[in-house]
Amino acid sequence: MSDADREIQERARRFMDEELIPLEVETELGGGRLSEDVREKHHHLAIDLGLWAMNMPKELGGGGLSMFQQVLVSEQIGRVTNGLGWCIHTPPEWAPDVVSREQLERWILPTIRGERQECYAITEELAGSDVDAIQATAGRNGDEYVLNGRKWHVTSFGSADYVFFQGKIEGGPNAGSHAMFFVDKDTPGVRPVREPAYTHTLIDTHTELAFEDVRVPAANLIGSEGDGLKFVYSWFRYERLMIAARCCGAAERLIDEATAFAKDRVQFGRPIIENQAIAHMLADSVTELWAARLMTYELAKNIDRGVDLKVQHAQSSMAKLYASEMANRVADRAVQIFGGRGYMRENVAERFWREVRVDRIWEGTSEIQRNIVADQLAKRGARMLSG
Ligand SMILES: Cc1cc2nc3c(=O)[nH]c(=O)nc-3n(C[C@H](O)[C@H](O)[C@H](O)COP(=O)(O)OP(=O)(O)OC[C@H]3O[C@@H](n4cnc5c(N)ncnc54)[C@H](O)[C@@H]3O)c2cc1C
Repeated sequence: MSDADREIQERARRFMDEELIPLEVETELGGGRLSEDVREKHHHLAIDLGLWAMNMPKELGGGGLSMFQQVLVSEQIGRVTNGLGWCIHTPPEWAPDVVSREQLERWILPTIRGERQECYAITEELAGSDVDAIQATAGRNGDEYVLNGRKWHVTSFGSADYVFFQGKIEGGPNAGSHAMFFVDKDTPGVRPVREPAYTHTLIDTHTELAFEDVRVPAANLIGSEGDGLKFVYSWFRYERLMIAARCCGAAERLIDEATAFAKDRVQFGRPIIENQAIAHMLADSVTELWAARLMTYELAKNIDRGVDLKVQHAQSSMAKLYASEMANRVADRAVQIFGGRGYMRENVAERFWREVRVDRIWEGTSEIQRNIVADQLAKRGARMLSG
């Protein structure tokens, strides 16, 4: 790590320790709600600290951080439960290279400034892992497209003011191909259907969202008809790496908290860490964290070095797969070490135990990551993926 890397890591760590971690229990017991004033304060702090839009180019007003530095910040975000760290927002990584001038001015630059926020509407009832099975449609009508579909699990719809809508083109030479659109949340026909309860208690909710004859200007199409999946895969690669980083942060916090408790908690006249059964759970946890962290850091550095895109794709899957499964094992052990306390919602291990579960599901399940890795292994060989 360079001095600049360490400084950014420390800046993010202080923000988490001083501002966000102290609010976790209140957020949990309040069902994921925090006052608007406090949320506003976090939003402005994230901007003032230069962490908001850390992934965007400096010339567009973003932080211009290297991928490795973004991983260092995301690890810190991962140390905090209840999604409180999500006040550090990363606009879509792929967007600046593909959007039109008008789209840049209308959506991306205001997002980089912290004035607007997006969410993603891709998954549907019958199309999850198999993104190509989506049934949402986009039909060209003069200077407009008419969008229809029903989307599931739209994370952060509540705090967003525009949506990336993924649909299949109806009619014309590109019929059946994927396309992505900017859709302002207040466009007539965009209708939140319900906000189901999920396992975690996050500040951000996940909405089921209907698009009913939503008319948007043709200028809202991103790139060309048929480009939609390309943007989704780019988003997946980025998010998989950041999930790996957040899982490393979660594991670090869990290990620190469980170790402190095990040193302090006395049963049968001695601290429970003096029992090999407890000590070995901690030893396994920190060993696996180190392995996951090395993978995550190396992948980030590979991306900064411009490694081949296919290799990046496979390594993002490997890092996400290993780090998310590692964090789940660590969280389970931490609950066990805390005993009955580990089952209480006011306990950090209990919250992480619920929260890291989704990291094995979203942005591609563990099974899908294994499919991707196996496919790339067959095509490129072990040395290319792991050398
Ligand atoms: C909290 C949360 C937030 C989310 N946020 C968003 C969001 O903001 N926007 C969005 O568009 N989506 C979002 N998602 C959707 C998420 O990406 C999907 O849930 C995920 O991709 C899995 O799809 P699915 O749930 O339909 O499961 P399915 O695809 O139905 O899979 C069910 C099971 O079958 C397995 N399976 C499927 N195919 C294969 C295969 N070929 N080989 C082996 N096993 C297989 C899966 O691994 C899984 O175990 C979110 C999901 C959650 C839970």
